[in-house]
Amino acid sequence: MIDLHTHSVFSDGTTTPEENVRLAQRSGLSGLALTDHDTLQGWPRADRAAQRAGIDFVPGVELSCELDGRGVHLLGYWVDADDAALSAECDRLRQERDRRAGEIIDLLARHGVHVDPAAVRARAAGAPLGRPHVAAVLVDMGVVADVDAAFDEWLGDGRPAFAQKRALSPVDGVRLLRGAGGVAVIAHPGVSEVVTADLVAQLAAAGLAGVEGDHAAHDDDQVRYWRAVAAELGLAVTGSSDFHGERKDARIGQRTTPRAVVDRLRAHCLQVRAV
Ligand code: AMP
Ligand code: ZN
Ligand code: FE
Ligand code: FE
Repeated sequence: MIDLHTHSVFSDGTTTPEENVRLAQRSGLSGLALTDHDTLQGWPRADRAAQRAGIDFVPGVELSCELDGRGVHLLGYWVDADDAALSAECDRLRQERDRRAGEIIDLLARHGVHVDPAAVRARAAGAPLGRPHVAAVLVDMGVVADVDAAFDEWLGDGRPAFAQKRALSPVDGVRLLRGAGGVAVIAHPGVSEVVTADLVAQLAAAGLAGVEGDHAAHDDDQVRYWRAVAAELGLAVTGSSDFHGERKDARIGQRTTPRAVVDRLRAHCLQVRAV
């Protein structure tokens, strides 16, 4: 079994790629994907660690997209690390995340919460700036009790300090990931309020290969629902923890994807490249 969605310090996780591999090995997994937000920079370290540990490494990325002012996340696997269009979008998103962090800090200040931008940058330690980094600083400051409260009270979608990243539409995101030689899977469809079965059908028409139906944040009904949507559209169903280290409860290996599904996704990706 393979956990197809994990984060590291290369985005907003708290563990190194080597630690993710070790945790995967300890959980008895045969493979692990690293899917940091909008960056591929953790791949070489995860790849080396996985080789040493004797488990499979699936190179991935969680690409930020946007629909109706809300975030939609796509997982891309086996994309070409040298693809110019994907690299340009990741670079642009990094700058956009810097801009948005400033906007969030301004919104917080308007509500009397004064966050030091340098503290947020220090938390990210060079990774693309995410809301969890701002949340961690709010916890440090004693403004909120924990990261969840930071999202509930301030940073979550539609909350007082919510600011959206400008990003591609999910249809264009699927095209970008496919154009980079990879396969695209819609991440945690039950978590994003703008992700509907209709949207997934549109994405399937654009070349989406799978649905992350078995995500750690989905309850049993959501898993059943998204499995049915995927079956209807002939898409693969993946399972994953969306591990973020200490920033979330999910553990590596809590939800997994069978090897046969990973093989099917890989075949889909090689097929696309052959066309
Ligand atoms: P960003 O990429 O900056 O928009 O931040 C999105 C990330 O924030 C997600 O990948 C999650 O890791 C995290 N996140 C979103 N909502 C919550 C929440 N309610 N509690 C904790 N973390 C969250
Ligand atoms: Zn994240
Ligand atoms: Fe996500
Ligand atoms: Fe994620």
